[in-house]
Amino acid sequence: MTIQSTDWAQRFSDRMSRVRANEIRELLKLLDQPDILSFAGGIPDPGLFPAERIQAGYDAILADPDLSRQALQYSVSEGYLPLREWIAERMAAHGVPCGPDNIMLTAGSQQALDLLGKLFISPGDTVMVARPTYLGALQAFTAYEPRYLDLPEDALDGGCDAQALMAGRAPRPLGYFVPDYANPTGESLPLAQREALLDLAQQLDMTLIEDAAYRELRFAGEIQPSLLALDVARSGSIEQARTLFCGTFSKTISPALRLGWVCGPKAVIEKLVLLKQGSDLHVSTINQMVGWRAVTEDYEQHLSRLRNAYGAKAQATLDALARHMPQGVTWSKPEGGMFVWLRLPGGLDGKHLLERAIAEERVAFVPGEPFFAEVPAANAIRLSYSLPTAAEIDDGVGRLARLIARHG
Ligand code: PMP
Repeated sequence: MTIQSTDWAQRFSDRMSRVRANEIRELLKLLDQPDILSFAGGIPDPGLFPAERIQAGYDAILADPDLSRQALQYSVSEGYLPLREWIAERMAAHGVPCGPDNIMLTAGSQQALDLLGKLFISPGDTVMVARPTYLGALQAFTAYEPRYLDLPEDALDGGCDAQALMAGRAPRPLGYFVPDYANPTGESLPLAQREALLDLAQQLDMTLIEDAAYRELRFAGEIQPSLLALDVARSGSIEQARTLFCGTFSKTISPALRLGWVCGPKAVIEKLVLLKQGSDLHVSTINQMVGWRAVTEDYEQHLSRLRNAYGAKAQATLDALARHMPQGVTWSKPEGGMFVWLRLPGGLDGKHLLERAIAEERVAFVPGEPFFAEVPAANAIRLSYSLPTAAEIDDGVGRLARLIARHG
C-alpha cells in the first residue's frame, strides 16, 4: 500500500498565499558562527537586562502564598490592573489623559499589531506606511490581505495631494507609523511632520497606529509629543482620538516577558479585548506582576542607564562611519533607538552586499529591501549597534567600508 502524502498547500486558507518566509531571516539564521561580527540582530543588549530586579520580583511573588496563587492563575484579558493603572498614569504624564480602561496589555507590541490588523483590515483595504517601515508590522498585516500604499517621501512637507494619493484605492485607510527612532531608519518625525500626518489622517479619515517601540530610548535631541498626544490635543479627549498607541517593555525591561500594550479609545479597547480572548486569553499573569514591580522601582534610573549605553554605541557607530565610509554612502543620525540606515552608492544592492560581507569580511547587517511595502529600494542597509562593543563597532564598520569601497 502506498501512503499518500497530504498536499497541505491546497488546504491552507487564501490569506496564506501572501504570507512567506522572509529570505533574509533565513540567511540571518546562518549568522550564529562566532567569528561573524553582526550588526544584524535588532535586539536589546542582554547586559542591560535588569536581571536582579526580575529575579527579586519572581522570588517575592512566589514566596507569598496569596500572591503566588494569583500570579500562577488565569487572569482578565485586559491585563493586570495595577500595571494598566501605571501605564495610564505614564501616558497622562506625556499628554494623554486616560484611565486603565483605555489600556490593554498584549504579548509584546507585536501582538498589538496583529490584533489591530485583525480588527481593522478587510481584504483589499488600504494600509498606508512609511518608506521604509517595520518589517514585523508588514508580516502581521499581510495575513489580513491589505493593499499597501507607501507614503510619498515629501508628503509630510506640504507635497501631498491627499485625494490623488488614494485614487483607485479603498477609502479610509489604516496608517501605520513609527514616529520615534524608527526601525529600520533610526529617524524620528519632527513636530511639523507629526502635525502634517494628523492633517492627512483627518483629510482621509484614516485610523492611525502609532508604534512607539523605541520611544523611551532617547539619548539626544528633544522628545516630541506622541501622535496620540497631539491627536488628543486636537480632538479634546482620548475617546475622540483616531490614533492607537502601541507601547512595549521589550526594549526597556526584557522582550522575553512579552509585555506590550495598546492605548486608545474605550470603544477600540473593548473590541481588542474580545480578540485577545480568542487569541490567547491574556498575557502571562506572573510576568505582568513582575513587570509592574520592575517599573515601580527605580525605573527612571534604569532608563537613564539604557539611554547612556545606547547613546554611547550610537556615537561610536556615527564616528566609525565618518572615519571609514567611502564617498557616496550616506546615513541617518539617530537620536534614540538601535538603528542606523545606510544609503549605498546607486548600483549597490544590499542583498548582494550581505552575501559578500559574510564571505569576504565576516560582517553582517540586514539589507533594506524587506522593509519596503510597495516599491522596494535595493541600495540601503540597516545597521543595529545594540549588541557589539564600541571597539567591535569600529572594526566592523571599517570592514564594511572596505567592502563597499571594493564593490561600489
Ligand atoms: N515595533 C517595532 C518597530 C519593533 O522594532 C519591534 C521589535 N523588533 C516590535 C514592534 C515588536 O516588539 P515586541 O513585540 O517585543 O514589543
